[in-house]
Amino acid sequence: MISKILIANRGEIALRVLRACKELGIATVAVHSTADADAMHVRLADESVCIGPPPSRESYLNIHQIVAACEITGADAVHPGYGFLSENAKFADILEAHGITFIGPTAEHIRLMGDKITAKQTAEGLGIPVVPGSDGEVTPENALETARQIGFPVLIKATAGGGGRGMKVAKTEADLEEALNTARSEAAAAFGNPAVYMEKYLGKPRHIEIQVVGDGEGNAIHLGERDCSLQRRHQKVWEEANSPALNVDQRMEIGQVCADAMKKMKYRGAGTIEFLYENGEFYFIEMNTRLQVEHPITEAITGIDLVHEQIRVASGGGLSVSQEDIVFQGHAIECRINAEDPRTFVPSPGTITHFHAPGGLGVRVDSGAYAGYKIPPYYDSLIGKLIVHGRTRVECMMRLRRVLDEFVVDGIKTTLPLFQDLVDNPDIANGDYDIHWLEHYLAGDKTH
Ligand code: ADP
Repeated sequence: MISKILIANRGEIALRVLRACKELGIATVAVHSTADADAMHVRLADESVCIGPPPSRESYLNIHQIVAACEITGADAVHPGYGFLSENAKFADILEAHGITFIGPTAEHIRLMGDKITAKQTAEGLGIPVVPGSDGEVTPENALETARQIGFPVLIKATAGGGGRGMKVAKTEADLEEALNTARSEAAAAFGNPAVYMEKYLGKPRHIEIQVVGDGEGNAIHLGERDCSLQRRHQKVWEEANSPALNVDQRMEIGQVCADAMKKMKYRGAGTIEFLYENGEFYFIEMNTRLQVEHPITEAITGIDLVHEQIRVASGGGLSVSQEDIVFQGHAIECRINAEDPRTFVPSPGTITHFHAPGGLGVRVDSGAYAGYKIPPYYDSLIGKLIVHGRTRVECMMRLRRVLDEFVVDGIKTTLPLFQDLVDNPDIANGDYDIHWLEHYLAGDKTH
């Protein structure tokens, strides 16, 4: 059994994990950089350890310091949250070598899914539908032939990709050479690896992802889908569960494909299988081997605490539920509250002068922010998540409109006004949007 968990993260997700630990009666250790000494997760944890100066690579990404913090405090497990070291296979290996439990999948599975070419090949082998594309790496020598086989437009993507970097579209043969060169150099700069592959470029897909959890012994379930099509620069902004585009049969069919794949893999822990969805077809793009930012909407409609499940599985206690126990109830929407200008998305760090979180039935706010909190400029600008649940999508939207009016964050700019606009938009009300909708909307294109 796990008795003390070190949370190797910061911000709202550190708090989220801490809450689950408290409920399970597990002691907690917070780690923090010098910039986060006053953070809420540090205040609420049983113990805390300063692991370095503000830059992430010297603190939250510093494996040596985190392992030392485990040894000092006697933590027997680490929850990595999302981002930072959550998909770092070396970190999982090192913890294991020190006899510390990594709350996540095996290092082997992290590696398998971390390389996108291998991930796609693995997914295909497990019976998951994938985007048509190159068999492996694309080079200047084989690019043209590969693109002709796939058919233009094509998308060139970094093997080591993440955050939409190293991704370039070639609409025609004339664009190919430049797209390939730019993608390769961006990939080399961002990931230290210039390798790229090629996919059919889908014109108007939705981004739909399936939440899975496995026990590492061959049992696995799915918890339905999340629609994350509302994106800006490939970053999710608003997510909902269920997807307005799927019916029950489609949900259960793709969910079962994913759960079966995870059974075959003997996947351990929580994971998300991401798809593009167009004309009734699903196309795998990647798998994230960790908890995701938007996991609370799945929790809202299933009533299952995903962090509890992660901890149970990591302790060898198996899953608390089987597929038949999962009932999807109502509709949930998450808005990511970023400390950013709502139009330009330029970060807006600074001190929060007033903070009032909304409440009432079906409302959840995951945030470490409070009045007087100074947002450090060094990290991601996500300061909180607003999750609203209703019996139907219509009720959920009504509630969201009311809740957005109640939310007060003064002293900095936030993305709250954007959500006030979106909740009144007819396309959003109808659930009628694809992955490009938000970019067009922000560019003032009302015809989209
Ligand atoms: P990353 O790991 O860099 O985030 P993903 O493979 O998850 O890359 O893709 C991120 C986003 O890029 C998707 O949500 C989608 O908006 C877009 N995208 C990815 N692959 C395609 C494709 N084949 N066609 C059209 N858009 C795509």
